[in-house]
Order: sequence, then structure tokens, then C-alpha cells
Amino acid sequence: MMFVEILYPKIVEVPLVSEELRGWNWRNPPVAPLLESIKLGVWEVTSKYCATRYDVYLYRVLKIRPRLTKPILLGRAVHDLFVEAFRCLKKAILEEPKSGSELYCVLTSKRKKVVAHILERFPANLVDELSCNLNSLYNYLSLQISADYDRLIVESPDIVRSSIVDRFLSISCERPIDGSRLGLSKWLMVDIYAPPIGIVEVKTGSTKDFHELSLVGYALAMESSEYAPINFGQLMYVHLNNGIHILRKLVRVSDELRREFLEERDRLMEILYHERDPGLPNECPESCPYYFYCRGEKNEEVNN
Ligand code: SF4
Repeated sequence: MMFVEILYPKIVEVPLVSEELRGWNWRNPPVAPLLESIKLGVWEVTSKYCATRYDVYLYRVLKIRPRLTKPILLGRAVHDLFVEAFRCLKKAILEEPKSGSELYCVLTSKRKKVVAHILERFPANLVDELSCNLNSLYNYLSLQISADYDRLIVESPDIVRSSIVDRFLSISCERPIDGSRLGLSKWLMVDIYAPPIGIVEVKTGSTKDFHELSLVGYALAMESSEYAPINFGQLMYVHLNNGIHILRKLVRVSDELRREFLEERDRLMEILYHERDPGLPNECPESCPYYFYCRGEKNEEVNN
């Protein structure tokens, strides 16, 4: 499957979404936020690694800063790589390359510099491991995107090249979305936006059901600020163990998930407004960035 097609999944059945649960219904319940005064990040609402949401209480109320654990740093490196690769793609595509192989040559000529630039921000003990993986991921993205470009040029001879270029240019990485009407941050960033329907979140850890909620948050925010209906989103899991493995999951932004997101948003707002300690859950993942605080110093600290 072409990489661009991944961003534009073939939708055979458009789900029915209740009007009252569209983001553009932001003036009315249940979409209207419980409070105007608190603005949340989508990650705060949806990252349910901590079952009681004690993590958000620590961050917002007690002002305890999380520690950067290895999984967090790996995730950040992959996100940075996507951002830089798409930035290089946009620059290269503006030159309207004649073929996919020409585009591929331009993209790969930037690889060393891009990876070195990203690695500057990471601790020395992770650089070797990251370097190999980021180089492979950059190569993979360059190859996939160049192959897509080539196929469109070869198989659509009647389409002028500039319209193919426009299609690629419309895809953005770290696209800002104003979520303030929903009690979310004014500067939300969705990982990849491929208009008019594609929103993609890139994840690096193991799959979790609650990851779907992050797509719901961005979909609602986009509907509230841009009045664009978003019915689907995709989770793209990038795993970098012994090569690259990518797992994609198409998610319906259904009524049920919308309600779950909105209820969680309001529950968090209530905790934060009343500064109510939600308590510790029975179990904590050792990879939690607050493990050092809640459960002692067992967590591996990479850098702070
Ligand atoms: S260590 Fe446990 S209680 Fe503390 S934030 Fe993490 S998951 Fe929550």
C-alpha cells in the first residue's frame, strides 16, 4: 500500500455521528466544557497510563516535573524524525522533481544532517541506539514517499505535476489545532494531518485502547475550530526493534468514544478545579515518569 494511501484510508462506510457530539456543538453540553478556566492538553485527558490520573494531579496541582524515561525519549526521537522528514519532503517537492528516484536522492542526501541534528538533543548513552534506528526510519519514509510520488507521476500522466505536488504539500506534520472552545489547549498539535479526512497519531509504545481517545480529542478540536467533520483517525505504531515495524489501526471517531473523551475531560477538570487528590492506583507501570516520586527511586532515569 502506498504511504499516501495510508494517510487516506479507503472508507467503505461512513459512521453516523450525532450532531450533539460534533465539536462544532461546543456551546452546548455534552461538548461544552465543564469549566472555562482550565485548558487541558489532549495527552492529559487521554494518557491513562495512570488509572486514577494522579499523574495529572502531580503535574498540575503539586507542580512536580516528570522524569524523562527511556520510552519517553525514544518516542520523542521518532516524532522529531517525522517532523524533520516531512520538512525535508516539502522543501524537496517544491522543486517538482521529475521522478520518484530524483526525489529519493534529494531526501536521502539530507539524512545524515537531519539525524545528527535530532541526536544533539539526546543524552549520549542513547545516541548509538537512536542513530541506527533513526537512519533506518528516515530511509523507510523517504523510500515510501518517493515511491508514491513516482507512481502518481507514472500512473496519472494526465494530471499536471503541480497538482501532485499540491497533494503532498497539503500533508502536514505537527499541525496546530485550536482546542480552546472545548477546554483544551489553544495550541494542540496533531502528529500528521492529511486533509480533508486524515488525522494520524504516531505512537511508539505498546498498543493501548485508550490511545484511540487522543484521535477523538483532535477530531473534536478540529470540528470546533474549523468546522471540518472528522469521522476517522489512524494510530500508527512505530516499533524500532531489530528493524522497523509499523502497525496501523483505523479508528472510528464514534459517539461512544466522543462521550468517553468528554466525560474524562470533565472529570479531570473537576479534579484540578477542586485540587482533589485522586489517590494512587493499585498498580503503576515502572516506565511511568512519576515512578520515582510515587513508588521510590526504582525507575531508570535517563536525563532530566
Ligand atoms: S507512578 Fe503510579 S501513581 Fe504515580 S503517576 Fe505513575 S501510575 Fe500514577
